[in-house]
Amino acid sequence: MEKETLAIHSAYNKAVQGTMAVPIYQTTAYNFGTPEFAASSFNLEQGTDHVYTRVGNPTTAIFEKRFAELENGSGGLATSSGMSAIFYSILNVADSGDNILASYQLYGGTITLFSHTLKRLGIETRFFDVENPQDIEKLIDSKTKAIFFESISNPSITVADISKIVEIADKYNIISIVDNTVATPILCNPLNFGIDVVIHSASKYTTGQGLAIGGIVVERKNLVQKIKNNERYPHFNKADESYHGLIYSNPPVDGILFTFRMRMALLRDIGAVLSPFNSWIFIQGIETLSLRMRQHSENALSIAQFLETNSNVKKVNYPKLNSSKYKNIADKYLKNGSGLLSFEVESYEKAKEIVSKVKIFSIVANIGDSKSIITHPASTTHQQLSANELKKAGVSAGLIRLSVGLENSIDLINDLKEAMA
Ligand SMILES: *Cc1c(COP(=O)(O)O)cnc(C)c1O
Repeated sequence: MEKETLAIHSAYNKAVQGTMAVPIYQTTAYNFGTPEFAASSFNLEQGTDHVYTRVGNPTTAIFEKRFAELENGSGGLATSSGMSAIFYSILNVADSGDNILASYQLYGGTITLFSHTLKRLGIETRFFDVENPQDIEKLIDSKTKAIFFESISNPSITVADISKIVEIADKYNIISIVDNTVATPILCNPLNFGIDVVIHSASKYTTGQGLAIGGIVVERKNLVQKIKNNERYPHFNKADESYHGLIYSNPPVDGILFTFRMRMALLRDIGAVLSPFNSWIFIQGIETLSLRMRQHSENALSIAQFLETNSNVKKVNYPKLNSSKYKNIADKYLKNGSGLLSFEVESYEKAKEIVSKVKIFSIVANIGDSKSIITHPASTTHQQLSANELKKAGVSAGLIRLSVGLENSIDLINDLKEAMA
């Protein structure tokens, strides 16, 4: 089935469960009934949706399965935020003394997580430029556990050449992880290009109206082939003493091992789990995701084309513009453009002036809302970064980012026109 249909129908059986809308299982725990059933549940014989909501919940399970299908993955794990999805993905592969490779062009929070918090835990991040994937190989050693980057990175709106990075990750048998938040599974499916694990902040386009914080991790089908007996990943291949000797790769439970270990070991022990109510909100969002992404992209392209003609604008970053250096890469990996674009004006002051004058666009630290959003990264989201980090993340003083919403694009263009006059 196609994504539009899966988004509305998959993972929930109306005929058996009896309601058109997916119910919210707002519960902490589940009635085992008998001691035998309780014991078998803890022995993982009954699935993970009816033990305790920290490790699984029936509403959350529908969100996870539906989202994983949209990404063409074998399974998903929902988390309390995009940041916890990223943190768990790394902790799932790396221990103290290990390193990961990550692109410079990342979400601000991801950069601080990698360069400060992971460092405190003894996990080193070696950064590379996503525009020069050939430089990745030099950074790899026997302790390298993951290659992490964003399919479309924000706010520089860089599009990664996914296949080139996959080639290197596969050559060294390293797990590749892509943050696909900006593209959404509607515009890009990194797993189809050989990526091993995809993560999302569901707080953005998945909710679509800025309603809730959440995240999700999806693993590709047959990831076991890469992990089984792979010396880089001993904890998937030897008995987990914290789970009475479970070996995650032998055989993987329900065909999943990456998200399964994350659930049984990390969600169990750290507990940044998504609430059933927020899972339900994301299920509502998924139903209209493909329609919304089409309109976000159409509006963004119209605005990008307008900005190119405006004399205040030095440069427009939008991958589907004919002038974009990412046009060919975007045509390969992205169905449609994206809802994000950025542009440069001459100075910090001019950027702040435009941001203060717009009326329809709101000044908000978010993206992916139905309401249009304007951000001046240098003074807000990227304020904590050093001058060197800013440069590498593609953030200049006069850069303005737009998360183009679902209003009429003519109104949005007029708003920008007046603010720049
Ligand atoms: C927002 C965002 C995150 C973090 O997600 P939260 O849900 O806010 O924790 C990570 N990556 C990207 C690309 C984002 O836009």
